[in-house]
Formats: sequence, C-alpha cells, structure tokens
Amino acid sequence: MIGRIDSKIPSGPLESKWENHKFESKLINPSNKRKYSVLVVGSGLAGASAAASLAELGYQVKCFCYQDSPRRAHSIAAQGGINGAKNYQGDGDSVHRLFYDTVKGGDFRAREANVHRLAEVSVNIIDQCVALGVPFAREYGGLLANRSFGGTQVSRTFYARGQTGQQLLLGAYSSLNRMIGTGSVQMFPRTEMLELVIVDGHAKGIVVRDMVTGAISSHSADAVVLATGGYGNVYFLSTMARGCNVTAGWRAYKKGALFANPCFTQIHPTCIPVSGSYQSKLTLMSESLRNDGRCWAPKKKGDTRKPSDIPEDERDYYLERMYPAFGNLAPRDIASRAAKMQCDDGRGVGPGGFGVYLDFRDAILRYGRGTIGGANISETEARARGTEKVKALYGNLFDMYHQITAESGYEQPMRVYPAVHYTMGGLWVDYNLMSNVPGLFVLGEANFSDHGANRLGASALMQGLADGYFILPSTIGNYLATVAPDKRPTADHAEFRAAEENVNTQTQRFLSIKGKRTVDDFHRELGLLMWDLCGMARTEKSLSRALARIPTLRAEFWENVNVPGSGDSLNVSLEKAGRVADFLEFGELTCLDALERRESCGGHFREEFQYTEKDPEVQSGKVCAGDVKRDDENFCHVACWEHAGDKVKPLRHTEPLIYEVVKPAVRSYR
Ligand SMILES: Cc1cc2nc3c(=O)[nH]c(=O)nc-3n(C[C@H](O)[C@H](O)[C@H](O)COP(=O)(O)OP(=O)(O)OC[C@H]3O[C@@H](n4cnc5c(N)ncnc54)[C@H](O)[C@@H]3O)c2cc1C
Repeated sequence: MIGRIDSKIPSGPLESKWENHKFESKLINPSNKRKYSVLVVGSGLAGASAAASLAELGYQVKCFCYQDSPRRAHSIAAQGGINGAKNYQGDGDSVHRLFYDTVKGGDFRAREANVHRLAEVSVNIIDQCVALGVPFAREYGGLLANRSFGGTQVSRTFYARGQTGQQLLLGAYSSLNRMIGTGSVQMFPRTEMLELVIVDGHAKGIVVRDMVTGAISSHSADAVVLATGGYGNVYFLSTMARGCNVTAGWRAYKKGALFANPCFTQIHPTCIPVSGSYQSKLTLMSESLRNDGRCWAPKKKGDTRKPSDIPEDERDYYLERMYPAFGNLAPRDIASRAAKMQCDDGRGVGPGGFGVYLDFRDAILRYGRGTIGGANISETEARARGTEKVKALYGNLFDMYHQITAESGYEQPMRVYPAVHYTMGGLWVDYNLMSNVPGLFVLGEANFSDHGANRLGASALMQGLADGYFILPSTIGNYLATVAPDKRPTADHAEFRAAEENVNTQTQRFLSIKGKRTVDDFHRELGLLMWDLCGMARTEKSLSRALARIPTLRAEFWENVNVPGSGDSLNVSLEKAGRVADFLEFGELTCLDALERRESCGGHFREEFQYTEKDPEVQSGKVCAGDVKRDDENFCHVACWEHAGDKVKPLRHTEPLIYEVVKPAVRSYR
C-alpha cells in the first residue's frame, strides 16, 4: 500500500510558488543532460511540446504515438481556442482572474497552486506559439484577436478560426521535427505502448507493439513521460478521436500509479445530436459558437413547428433566463444540464426530442447592422453582410454542421445536444507532474491536475502546452538529478522480459477466443451502459446497477470476443481489443469513484445532491433549483485510487485540497 500522498506544493505565497520552485529546482549541467534518456509517449500538444523542449535542453528523447504521424494526434481536432491572460482587450483580465475563473469553473476541486501556475504560464504560451508561427486570428490593426469562452466574463481566448488545435499542433510538430532532424528525438509512429516497466520502484521503460509488423520491443530510459490523452471513449460515443483510449494510463495504474478522480468526465453542451445506432463518433460544435449563438427551446412541450414558425415569445432562451450574468456563456457542466432539463421536460427538438437550438439569427442581423452604413440598409442586405461576418468567424464549423446534417446553420438554428467531450480525471501527479511512481511523469489530458470537476473551454490546450513547453522541462531535473544515468537497466532486464511476456500472452489470448461478437459490439454496449448509468446524471441506484453489470459484460468479452487475423501484422481488431479490455476494467473504477463521491460537483452530478426550491441559496437567487450541491466538509479532496490486485476492490486514498486564496463558495453564474 502506498504511503502518504505528497503533492509537493511549494511553500510561500501563491504568486511566488512557481518562481521560487524553479529557482530551487535541481539543475543538470548541459554535458550531463546528454547522458539521460527520456521516453515520451504521446505526440499531441502535451507530448510534442515536451519531447521537443526536452530535446532542445539536451536530453536524449524517444517519442511514441499510435498514429502514422505525430501531427495526427487527437489535439488536431481542437476547434475553438486557447486561453492566455494577456488582457489585450483591456477588459479586466489578469493572471489572477484566469486563476480564479479556473478554480471556480472546476467547482473547487482543483489544486490551487497548480492552477495559479497554469495562469502564470499562459501568457508565455501565446508568445511561444506566435514565435513558432502559429497563425492566430488578428484584429485589423495587427493585434492578436480574442473571443470569449464559457465561465468567464472577459475575452481571453486566442484562436485560429475553428482550427486552433491543428495550428498549435503544427507549431509543436515543427519544433519536434527540428529535433528529430538533429537526431535528439527518435520518433516511433504507429507504435503502441502496452506496458510500463518498473525496476526497483522506478519507471524505467516501456514495452511497445509495432502496429504494422506486430513486433514487440522494449525501450529502457531514465524517465517515462505519459502524454497519452483522455479516456472519454469509455462511453463509446464521444467527440474525441476514435483512437483515444485509457490503455497507457490503465497499465501504469496496474503497476502502481494512482488514478485520480476517474469519474470527472466533461459533457459538452453543444454537439450534433446522435442520429442512429450505427454511429461511432459524435461531432462537437465549438463553444466559441456560444459567443454569438443563442441557446433556446420551445416553451410549449412537444412543439413540432419549424423553428422559424415559433414566435419570439414562445421561445425559452433558457441560459439567459437561468444564468443572466453569464447567459449563453455559462460553463459547460451547467449549460449541459440546462439543455438536458429542457429535453427531460418534453421541450427538446429534433428526432426523439434530444436537442435544443443554437441560433445565429440575431447575431447575423446584429453584425450586418454593425457594418458601415448598416443601420440604413434593408434587412435582407443586413443579413447578407452579417452572414459574411459569421462565416469569417466560424465558417468551417458551419460547413462541418452542414456536411453532417444537410442543414444550414445560417438559415435555421443548429440542433445540438450534450455529449462526452473531455476527461478531467487522470493519473495522479504532484506539483512536478510526477506520479507516485518515481520517474513516471504525466502531462496534458492524461493527468488529473488542473481542471477540478469541470474544465473551462480553451483551457485544455493551455494546460497541455504549459505542461510540455514550460513545466516538465523545469521540473524533470528534480528527479533526474537523483538518478545516475549509467545505472539504467538494459532492455533485457528480467522486468522487461516479464512485461514482454505479458503482452505476448494477452495477444495470444485475444486471438484464441474466436467468439461471436466483435470488439466494437462490446465497446458499444459498455458505452451505452456508462452513458445511461454513469453519464450526465448519476444516482446510487444507477451506479450500483452499473457495478453489477460491468463484470458480467467483461466476463462475456473474454469468452466471446472475436479478434480475427494474426498478431504479427497490422490488425485493427487486435489493437481495439486491448483498448476495450482496459475500458471494461476502467469503466468499473469510474462507476466506483462516482458512487463513493457522495456529493455533486462540476460535471459529476449525483441526482441525490442538488439544490431545490426549498434551499436558501435558491431562494436568495444565487443558484437555480437543479444546480449541483457540493459537500466541502467531506469531499474537498482528490480521490486517488490504488490498484490492489485483479478482482480485489481498489483502495481509495485522498489528497485534501487546501484553499489559501480562493475560499470555496457557492458557485454562482447568476
Ligand atoms: C472536438 C474537440 C475539440 C476541442 N477543442 C478544444 C479547444 O478549442 N480548446 C481547448 O483548450 N481544448 C479543446 N479540446 C480538448 C483538447 O483538444 C484535448 O484535451 C487536448 O488536445 C489533449 O492533448 P494531449 O496532448 O493531452 O493528448 P492527445 O492530443 O489526445 O494526444 C495523445 C497522444 O498519445 C498517444 N498515445 C495514446 N496512447 C498511446 C499508447 N498506448 N501508445 C502510444 N501512444 C499513445 C497518441 O498517439 C497521441 O499522440 C477539444 C477536444 C475535442 C474532442
């Protein structure tokens, strides 16, 4: 059993913790850096920026990803933007405000010191990316442009139309490529990490499978960095790339790394609704659209009229009504629940009533009227001009919506519904981003660190790049300075052999089952179960049902899954089988975590714990009936799960969250 959980938060005032920590951190001299080897698993924003920065510093780096190129990592999908507390708008932003918004946005379940550091570093990230040539949108005068995202009242989001992730990743990839060119990064695309190797209690390497040839090999190093992204696909349907999975994190968990807050999943309010059982993927409509789009549902239940036939006074702009101070820019957890409430009330739109409108009608006219001479032109002309402006801001998102639904978001409101989008939980890390396993670092969406129970929009890209460009390069020396590089075990050490053996055994087991159901079939069933019983709303009863059903499904998987083909060539079913086998175990931990957290906070909504009309907070207008009710006395902590063996209930440890600056309060957006 692990000992005390030490987050290693530096002492001293919040504002100087990071500067002091960097100064006090151990340095490694340039000629010694060359002797250290670091494995970076993942080439998304977190992994690519880390691998490039570590190599620039002089370390020997190997970087792994399962895509055919590092620049196809899931980060490329990010649409709306990246936050930075630059205050270019002069609208009252500051490092402190970004810090405060993020702590409050996470419903007071994130570590204060980490969040403050993130806000500090945010300003450097924007400079770094501009220096790398990222084509952020600019104002007419040349200044970088900003827009707003949910849970804030300032405009601090930098963007490149609806392709911010792609442009940022191209920037990080260009740095990575440079270091590949110099020989200090060795890149392994189409290579999947299947085991973490621990020698004498320290992370010393990984075992991987070449996804094209099936060859299994070991890589030893002085430290291992996991930047392997989020696990939202445990729900099968999500906005995440189809390949996103929990395997790297889960296998590290089974070797002793703590898994923190696995039940903290983000449901994004504006995604294209599910349209059929054949679907394998959902599509996000970026939160940036809520800068101008207004969410509404018909006031009348079961109203099947065309949206244009529903008069103004029969529309419920529910976010503006419920949360007037933030309106359509209410944070994601709150906006998602509000959308669900409209649909549960029988006022949803589209097939099955699982949808609400996201409407640009008013924005188009407003933009048109705001053009030169716009006040005196006809409405038709104003709409034409306004449409051009909206196209310039969000054109590719509207095109995407049109391609999927065959409807024009310019001519009629988009139909949207909440969907799984991001995971705040992840492997536990301390302030240095090191897990409880010495030498194992975790970055980006794969760690739990900064977003508490709800992530604010445009903060994931910020965190991934903060971790990779700025934090890990400063903190990894604290660990490496304690290990001698010439003592690194070679890849034929017994622990590597045993780990390779595990991988081979599992591969043979999959191939020999020859059952009747496809891997996807099991995955889909697990996902539906997770969505129904541990999704946007959870109860003790639903979670207990999930916990009873998952082991049965898992047992059937191991008896009846069909993995065709062989292990020594490209075999997509085999790849998926490994990931789904892990999801079938991880889903259980997620439900257990949700069951044990007997409170609601952020995206974790336990129906038993919500504000009602009788509560003074509702009567005084601070929150709405139906908002989440935290229990700070009993749950103001990180839940850290320790693997205790197969078929044994995992152990739940806690890291208390101590707020020195922002005192937890009722989270109000009204
Ligand atoms: C549709 C969409 C839009 C988004 N838009 C925004 C936005 O506008 N702003 C924002 O801040 N956030 C946004 N997000 C969230 C953000 O994109 C992600 O959180 C972020 O990109 C994650 O980056 P990462 O580097 O941690 O992981 P990823 O980009 O997911 O990269 C993971 C890497 O790990 C590798 N990997 C994983 N497992 C293994 C393994 N076992 N072996 C080898 N390699 C492995 C993969 O190959 C990949 O290279 C969006 C998310 C989605 C789904």
